[in-house]
Amino acid sequence: MIRRVLLACACLLIWAVSPVGAAEPSPQALSIYEDGKRAYDAGDYTTASRRFSEVSKLEPENPRWHYNLGLARRQLGQYAGAEAAFRRVAALDPEYKKAEIAQKLAHMEDDAGSERGRSGHDDARVFFYAFGGIVLAIIAGVLIVRRRRRQRVAAHASKAALKIDPQLLRAFSARLDALRERLVPIEHAMRFGEDADLRRELECATDLELAVARSLAVPGADGMSASRLAARLDEAEALAAGARQRALAGFGPHALEGQGERVGCWFCARPLANAEFRRRLPLTVGGRTSEVLACPPCAEQAARGIAPELRGRGEGAGFQHWSEDGNFDPYAERHRPSTRQVPSWDFRPAQGIAPIARLAAGGALAAAGTAAVVSLLDLDAARETGLAQQAASAAARHARNERSDSIFRDHS
Ligand SMILES: [Zn+2]
Repeated sequence: MIRRVLLACACLLIWAVSPVGAAEPSPQALSIYEDGKRAYDAGDYTTASRRFSEVSKLEPENPRWHYNLGLARRQLGQYAGAEAAFRRVAALDPEYKKAEIAQKLAHMEDDAGSERGRSGHDDARVFFYAFGGIVLAIIAGVLIVRRRRRQRVAAHASKAALKIDPQLLRAFSARLDALRERLVPIEHAMRFGEDADLRRELECATDLELAVARSLAVPGADGMSASRLAARLDEAEALAAGARQRALAGFGPHALEGQGERVGCWFCARPLANAEFRRRLPLTVGGRTSEVLACPPCAEQAARGIAPELRGRGEGAGFQHWSEDGNFDPYAERHRPSTRQVPSWDFRPAQGIAPIARLAAGGALAAAGTAAVVSLLDLDAARETGLAQQAASAAARHARNERSDSIFRDHS
């Protein structure tokens, strides 16, 4: 009950000081959001949460930023924070992602419910107005004590999660395989058109799919319980079913048949079935400039002078770009990654970038006007920025680990 009261207080404070109504996102906000999205895709939910928090502060009226903040916090097991973010979305725009938010809140209730009371929002408001700041101070103290206790419980839970029933794990793997089978044709169907809702459903389902796959790769290592795995699979399956219906409704009964062109983002290999989803990106390496095709998130990252990571196989000088493998399928790879990601500035092919850019882009690169051109990325300059960032994030990670070890460790 106490946590709910605190949440209600936080919501009231936010409602009191913020105007309602979303405007078009600024390029700066979009850029921070894309950064967060990439971290989220890579499973780095701490960075994702930080970036989404930044963008939420930059544009507090935009429900999308708060929604993503809620998603990242949820992945980190920070249910109270996630719930606050989702409630903020509902306060800003009651219709935005209404069903998804209701579903997520329900799942979080399942996971964290045993610790919560059932006191309603209205009671919380009365409570807040009656006792104000003194109550907040007391609650903060209680929360710190509880958090420390949960820390100890979480350590045990994490160990217990290692013992997920093998039969259950096999069932999860089978469901994951079936989910992949359903998502790949939707990737191909995107060649018929860019539909923002369809893209969002596909991306959300894929995020959940990849998170479950990571958990199943080393069961229990991330402390993910069987019930949370099941909940994520349920959610991903529901999104995939929705996307499937949307594709059939939008592109006709044959939408899920046939295949899109073999074109992938030069960096991350994400399939670029639709010309509208492609960006032409001039890339300078060692003073020579070649054009590559990139997905929008990689292009936006590059536009900020940050080199996206590159997918491929092998080590050091033997590293092979994903497109150099003739059997590589970007559509399947997106849902079952078999390659690794390396900093793109380390890739220095003897034959230059151009032939590999053509391999990655199929015929699409030669076709004039197929894609919007974004600003040039100088990989040599990006290397300097990237190395500096790596050093900074390593230092931040070190500091964070030290801090979380001492106090603020959340269970997952
Ligand atoms: Zn990409």
